[in-house]
Amino acid sequence: MSRPPRVAMLGGTFDPVHLGHLRSAVELRMQLGLDRVHMIPAHVPPHRAAPGVSSTERLAMLRAGIGDTPGLYADDRELRREGPSYSADTLTSLREEYGSEARLLMVVGHDAFLKLASWHDPEELFALAHVVVIDRPGHAAPLPPVLQELIAGREVKDSDALFDAPHGSLMRLALPSRLAVSATAIRGWLASGESVRYLLPEAVLSHIARGGLYRGE
Ligand code: ATP
Repeated sequence: MSRPPRVAMLGGTFDPVHLGHLRSAVELRMQLGLDRVHMIPAHVPPHRAAPGVSSTERLAMLRAGIGDTPGLYADDRELRREGPSYSADTLTSLREEYGSEARLLMVVGHDAFLKLASWHDPEELFALAHVVVIDRPGHAAPLPPVLQELIAGREVKDSDALFDAPHGSLMRLALPSRLAVSATAIRGWLASGESVRYLLPEAVLSHIARGGLYRGE
């Protein structure tokens, strides 16, 4: 019998997408044997100020950055929904697409994970998916008590245990490359006219240059 599909969602603002996101997605797919990683730009991020670059531009950069990378997919489903981009809604739609047996993973970096308890309907996230937390250099803060409560009894140590069930567990993962690249730093350098070469794919750099994006005022 064929095994159930293994599918990950990696959401973010991708403002802009960079090699930290893309290399993490590739290594995640290799390490966990995933069929597909959906990289999903938030249309209206609920937890942060609206990005200066539109969701359409952020999606276009993501598409350019992914190119023909096997297994990675620039997914526009949050752009097709009105209102705040809640992950629970996005996971519901992925669950409908892949079925109840699919092993669905919501992947977040440690910085995003620290705020998980304040997301919309955090319990529901575990009813829809597993949560996989990837290490990110410079982000090692301890977990706040509300988060410890949310994840109590959910942590598993390896992917065999994770793939035992379609949803409900938490796993931490240290990927090999752990690139200390951040979109905030990239936007800062671009605004001051400094080089961001080798931090983003060439295709994304070209898109930014052509559109005159992230220039300082
Ligand atoms: P910003 O600096 O603007 O906060 P960011 O670089 O964190 O942006 P996001 O689009 O907010 O990018 O990140 C989307 C997801 O990717 C989050 O879960 C975040 O933790 C994760 N992520 C971002 N950069 C890295 C990286 N270098 N390595 C691993 N995960 C990352």
